[in-house]
Amino acid sequence: MSVLIPFLALLLAGLLAAYLRVSLKTWAALSVIALVAAPFVGGSIVATVLFGLLFAALAVPLLHLPLRREKITRPLLAIYTKMLPQLSDTEKTALEAGTVGWEGELFSGLPKWKQLLNQPKPELSAEERAFLDGPVEEVCRMTSDWETTHDRADLAPEVWEYLKKQRFFGMIIPKQYGGLGFSALGHHKVIEKLASISSTLSSTVGVPNSLGPAELLLHYGTDEQKNHYLPRLADGREIPCFALTGPTAGSDATSLPDYGIVCEGEWNGARVLGVKLTFDKRYITLAPVATVIGLAFRLQDPDGLLGDEKDRGITLALVPRSTPGLEVGRRHFPLNCAFQNGPVRGKEIFLPLSQLIGGEDYIGQGWRMLVECLSVGRAITLPSTSSGAAKLAAVVSGAYARIRKQFGLSIGRFEGVEEALARIAGNAYAVSALSEATAAAVDRGEKPAVPSAIAKYHCTEMARQVGQDAMDIHGGKGVILGPRNYLGRGWQAAPISITVEGANIMTRSLMIFGQGAIRCHPWVLKEMQAAQHPDAETRLREFDRNLFGHIGFAVSNAVRSFVLGLTGARIGRVPGDATTRRYYRKLNRYSANLALVADTSMLLLGGKLKFKESLSGRLGDVLSQLYIASAMLKRYEDRDCPASERPLLAWAFHDACHKIELALSGALRNFPIRPAGWALWLLVFPWGRRAQAPSDRLGHRAASLLMSPSETRDRMGEGTFLTPCANNPAGRINAGLAKAIAAEPVERKFLKLVKSGDITAMDLPAQLHEAQLKGLLNAEEIALLNELQAIVHDAITVDDFDPSELVSARMAQGARLGKAA
Ligand SMILES: Cc1cc2nc3c(=O)[nH]c(=O)nc-3n(C[C@H](O)[C@H](O)[C@H](O)COP(=O)(O)OP(=O)(O)OC[C@H]3O[C@@H](n4cnc5c(N)ncnc54)[C@H](O)[C@@H]3O)c2cc1C
Repeated sequence: MSVLIPFLALLLAGLLAAYLRVSLKTWAALSVIALVAAPFVGGSIVATVLFGLLFAALAVPLLHLPLRREKITRPLLAIYTKMLPQLSDTEKTALEAGTVGWEGELFSGLPKWKQLLNQPKPELSAEERAFLDGPVEEVCRMTSDWETTHDRADLAPEVWEYLKKQRFFGMIIPKQYGGLGFSALGHHKVIEKLASISSTLSSTVGVPNSLGPAELLLHYGTDEQKNHYLPRLADGREIPCFALTGPTAGSDATSLPDYGIVCEGEWNGARVLGVKLTFDKRYITLAPVATVIGLAFRLQDPDGLLGDEKDRGITLALVPRSTPGLEVGRRHFPLNCAFQNGPVRGKEIFLPLSQLIGGEDYIGQGWRMLVECLSVGRAITLPSTSSGAAKLAAVVSGAYARIRKQFGLSIGRFEGVEEALARIAGNAYAVSALSEATAAAVDRGEKPAVPSAIAKYHCTEMARQVGQDAMDIHGGKGVILGPRNYLGRGWQAAPISITVEGANIMTRSLMIFGQGAIRCHPWVLKEMQAAQHPDAETRLREFDRNLFGHIGFAVSNAVRSFVLGLTGARIGRVPGDATTRRYYRKLNRYSANLALVADTSMLLLGGKLKFKESLSGRLGDVLSQLYIASAMLKRYEDRDCPASERPLLAWAFHDACHKIELALSGALRNFPIRPAGWALWLLVFPWGRRAQAPSDRLGHRAASLLMSPSETRDRMGEGTFLTPCANNPAGRINAGLAKAIAAEPVERKFLKLVKSGDITAMDLPAQLHEAQLKGLLNAEEIALLNELQAIVHDAITVDDFDPSELVSARMAQGARLGKAA
């Protein structure tokens, strides 16, 4: 044993140094102290000297920088340069665009929670609040989603006019250009509320405020373009769209075949230099009504009119609707959603160079411009839409499940329905926190490339799950379309959100981890940049610094993974209260796991990793769930840790942990190099996979929160359109919940009377009359039951139609013409 003591002392010093992630010098100092102490605790002196010599043989080359650089780093640099994955220009642009925020900490294996919790609490301005309570509330009252989607296949003209008049299309345009100049949070809240009444309404408002002419002009437009277009876009005189996608260029948008040839042509009666454009675009939102079309195409200069380069690359232009030869106006019909969407085509149509966004300076920069701006819009439009839809579905499904009775009980009391309600509650809670977090990131000045991909993917997927559960709970009430149906159209629209702004399969398997791994990793990008430095000495020095930083980081993550796995993540200093401290510690563990597995994957698979989409997708899931859990914790702290909200937080948190462990175990079980997978498994899961899905007890508590009025439930529905009015059956059901609950004891008394035979009449009005006559129920109780009957009737009634009301306008017109003939 005395021989082993110095070895154990060194090992302990090494583990401690790695766990605490201290510098090489501190590790060396700790090791020397451990060796000196070894003989005092019974270690053999000879063994101590021997281990000391071995330690010196390892430590000296590591600490002596000139020696380390020449003997270790130089040969490794040569190997690394050969292995360095070749990135395409598209990938380089994607990697360089955007900033790194909290996701970088999650990738570090040792997140600095203070940094997250010190971020300012997101707050709306007074003006934004007034806008939400005024024009947003008003336009929601004006919108009938059934009329929009069935009768008109468009928003009503008065809704269009109101949107323009109140400058809904200018939320991101600064006030100096006549826009509303809203914060990202304000913008998020507006879209969230609009989406809770109509996805056509939220898409119509969302698109001009997302990636499109206004955003591009703000960043790259010439002064002349800004002064002309921005005021007109802000007040709706111009309706924009942005056309990137075509029949052959979908997810792989950079492969667009559309082109423009530089030439002279006629514009406003003068001969000017410009481009002759030929393009075929499809799926373009707002195109059928757009007055100005943002267009992406490849610019060719075969005659060298602009310089020597012939293929100038992807370029962006603004095409006025009046441009001769432009074909626009036909419509696609995306899953019965009535927002304007259609193709745009042009053959050899001429535009002057002054219509290129940013003018000649930005020729060939189109892809970079799009990618740089994409993250901001993607962080808001679809996450906010998903949040509005999910929050509304949550509160209304809760109310419906309480009001709707079968087998003598509220359907929400059956465990099967309760399970679905709990999923709705947890997912809606997570979507709402995540969408708010990405909006807040934009307001902090970030260009959140990775979080916006996380939010786009997970908000739309969770909202789809909420929609599915809500539809199941509502049964036929959700299926039968008509003015009383508040779920069906949203359910139909779910795949649209899944498809647009980067289709979800690709976003998960290629983008989240693909961008995150290199962008957020504290060392990989720096290593790559250092290895490509033109100056040989700087190259070696910088590569050495980053390489050893990276090695220390990897060792630390391996040790932290193992130690935190062994202890069940019960150690470490973290913030939080009695409930959440445990959560922060779990996230520390998973963060170390992610960093370890990501590093090993990059090291062993190199450039091949980008083709291993199953692995990349699963690691992306881990990063995403870490981000979602952080967003929930941050919001819980911002709200002063309300105890009543804990069941929702706990359900969503356990769900996230369960998903993290499923993703990690899937990644390790299928790791392309099997022995590496086994070794990683030992470090990540020393006791096996332990996290469980949220328990039934927790599910019961979360579901119950949706079925009874409370502050927590109100907060769940906050920001959605719940005003009980003629066009809002969801608002009416929600408003009826409290009264329905108040009537429950009387209802039970009444049912008992019927069952016992004290009341013998067959239908309800007669039964109530009999009960009153016999003095079995007093007037107040009768009134309560009548009110309950009206609420139930309104909640469960579905629409039916004269067949002619379901015939399309064209068929109806044909039939009328036939009759007339
Ligand atoms: C209603 C609607 C509105 C739209 N609005 C606009 C608009 O305003 N402007 C505009 O320019 N475009 C718009 N689009 C286009 C939209 O962005 C594209 O539909 C989207 O990029 C996907 O292209 P695609 O439909 O051709 O599918 P495809 O590219 O054919 O993809 C099919 C499937 O393959 C998957 N996939 C593709 N490549 C990979 C990969 N490498 N790894 C893993 N999976 C992969 C995708 O995830 C998807 O699931 C809109 C589309 C719709 C349906």
